[in-house]
Amino acid sequence: MSIHLYNTMTREKEEFIPLEEGKVKMYVCGPTVYNYIHIGNARPSIVFDTLRRYLAYRGYKVTFVQNITDVEDKLIRRANEENTTVTELADRYTNAYNEDLEGLNVLAPDIQPRVMNTMPEIISFIEGLIEKGFAYESEGDVYFRTNRFEEYGKLSHQPLEALQAGARIEISAKKENPLDFALWKAAKTQEISWDSPWGAGRPGWHIECSAMALRFLGESIDIHAGGTDLTFPHHENEIAQSECYTNKPFARYWMHNEMLNIDNEKMSKSLGNFLLARDLIGKYTGQLIRFFMLSGHYRSPINFSEDLLEQAANSLERIKNAYVNLGHRLSTARAEEPNGVAKEQAELIEELRSRFIKEMDDDLNTANGITVLFDVAKEANLYLRNANVGETEVRAYRALLVELAGVLGLILEEEAELLDEEIEKLIVERTESRKARNFARADEIRDQLQAMGVVLEDTPQGIRWRRK
Ligand code: AMP
Ligand code: ZN
Repeated sequence: MSIHLYNTMTREKEEFIPLEEGKVKMYVCGPTVYNYIHIGNARPSIVFDTLRRYLAYRGYKVTFVQNITDVEDKLIRRANEENTTVTELADRYTNAYNEDLEGLNVLAPDIQPRVMNTMPEIISFIEGLIEKGFAYESEGDVYFRTNRFEEYGKLSHQPLEALQAGARIEISAKKENPLDFALWKAAKTQEISWDSPWGAGRPGWHIECSAMALRFLGESIDIHAGGTDLTFPHHENEIAQSECYTNKPFARYWMHNEMLNIDNEKMSKSLGNFLLARDLIGKYTGQLIRFFMLSGHYRSPINFSEDLLEQAANSLERIKNAYVNLGHRLSTARAEEPNGVAKEQAELIEELRSRFIKEMDDDLNTANGITVLFDVAKEANLYLRNANVGETEVRAYRALLVELAGVLGLILEEEAELLDEEIEKLIVERTESRKARNFARADEIRDQLQAMGVVLEDTPQGIRWRRK
């Protein structure tokens, strides 16, 4: 069994074979930090974090690089509007981005390079391209000469004329050809700038990823990823720069997540139809957003609505409840067996694990992976219906749930503890309400607990609770 990934370059699912055995070099394009990220931007973060976790689960040592675009027109404009510096603005939103990722349980990249700290590498990359005839200077700007790279357009699979019309290519008298793109832009007056052989200026957007991937991962990498909207021109241009500079294939597998839409339109800052990731994390939880996002395949569009998010909450609850139910039976279960898990249960557990792996091996099919997680919950609950359950088996089911949910970046343990704490708080409040003869509130709490599947029992020692 091996992992297969859909490669935008070949338009096929291909067996994943890394350049170096057991190791994966992965580069995912990061955000432009002039604002908070929206829930659409969170999609690639969650999807490719899950791929990273899955590759690690399958035994690979992954090096994960994601850049921060902190030099760009929008940043400069925004800093001017806010009367602050580009650096201060970039620091603020880089921190906010990292907070949002943490809220979504996305692992921090191994390396998170910023453009401002990569200037020498970017400049020497551009110099190299000029020396080889792939780029030219024009009035303080430097452009990439697209018609010198015969394979230009190989990722997008569309005639260049169609791409050119679709992507609103900047027309400029400084360019030899409209498809040429800026590697370096001369500074306009009073703009943040860096010295270069072509005068003061700043890099174009695409060159940073080529320079950073080269610096931190080397000439050829395994996986390069981002949203589908980055395929052209961004990734096409990265390929042109890198392959002309090194004369080696840049990335082996190109992976692109489909868009998250709202009312069937791409969520984007420019359309104004966005919801901030941090607002939704606060209102719901990062776990729920993550679960919702992974309930669809990454190559299918997602239509986002809060209603759908709330529906997903019920599904996630089923998995969490199975975890909690298993925990509750631990104290009454038969003591641990020295011989390990009974054969029937051991086989079932192994089968569930292999099904999960088979689904995830198939181009990261998290939607089907989640279905397997539901099946684990179902089988665990069925097992718990036995009058006499074994601690070894209960622990094995619980460990499997934690293991598979963990690959998807879902943490069941913390949530369960939180849930228990919440229930106990409500029980205390109910007892106090009854003492104060506030029966309406006491009944309300009883109903709420009932809805959560909690049964209260009056015992001589006081109120006891258990899950249905
Ligand atoms: P940006 O800051 O616009 O470059 O976007 C950062 C990442 O979010 C890129 O990988 C984009 O492809 C991705 N992205 C932007 N909008 C959406 C969306 N509506 N759905 C999914 N991914 C998106
Ligand atoms: Zn990039």
